[in-house]
Amino acid sequence: QVVVENVWKSYGQTLVLRGVSLTVDPGEVVGIIGPSGSGKSTLLRTINHLETVDRGSVTVDGTYIGYERKGGRLHELPERDVLKRRTEVGLVFQNFNLFPHLTALQNVTEAPVDLGRVAKTQARIEALQLLERVGLADHAGHYPRQLSGGEQQRVAIARALALHPKVLLFDEPTSALDPELVGEVEDVIRDLAHEGTTLIIVTHEIGFVREISDRIVFLDHGEVLEEGTPEQVLDHPRHHRAQEFIAKVR
Ligand code: ATP
Ligand code: MG
Repeated sequence: QVVVENVWKSYGQTLVLRGVSLTVDPGEVVGIIGPSGSGKSTLLRTINHLETVDRGSVTVDGTYIGYERKGGRLHELPERDVLKRRTEVGLVFQNFNLFPHLTALQNVTEAPVDLGRVAKTQARIEALQLLERVGLADHAGHYPRQLSGGEQQRVAIARALALHPKVLLFDEPTSALDPELVGEVEDVIRDLAHEGTTLIIVTHEIGFVREISDRIVFLDHGEVLEEGTPEQVLDHPRHHRAQEFIAKVR
């Protein structure tokens, strides 16, 4: 279970998250929508502790990501421990961010081996299974530059899964792709959703988010303005800012 509790975050004078709370149960798929600049990426980055929070907390199954509680207060953990705990939360970016000098297979095995989770041979076996799962078993030896955008993104998903995260976050996973490649990445995400993977997905693909989400959250100016089933949020938004946004994107 992911619990985001009253998270506040500013960059300098810019207040980006204003008391965001969100609970995601195991196996749940939560879609996050909202205008550009509303804080969607920042929210995902705080969940993954790529950003610190000014106030509030994020826990995954009761464990603070990036912090520990000492004497009633939260203290940021040393870098090494942050890296370990961050593996509970996988993040897939818009621009894939694969290591260019590593093959697809090496991209997937790198982190688990580096963190001492598994021996190299075992990591390779698991990585091949993961590449198979995203439809890329026959591309294991290819470098990112030899792969299409859709293939690179599927490798990035396999890489995130290799650490067995409790929740997988997607930040606009298909927005950098040519239209004809969007479907193959959505198929993989849809399979994960059906297999019961806990997912939080930020996307502008409203049809897709409606289809796969158990719940949709509408974020505006760093606040959750709507939260409910896809029907509630997309078809019957209560807040006028949500109505305006949804009318524009549908
Ligand atoms: P988009 O749909 O365009 O991706 P978003 O909802 O993901 O938008 P964020 O990227 O979270 O929005 O940004 C929210 C606000 O925080 C924006 O005003 C942005 O300019 C600001 N911001 C984000 N990252 C930083 C940073 N590292 N330093 C300063 N300001 C930042
Ligand atoms: Mg963003």
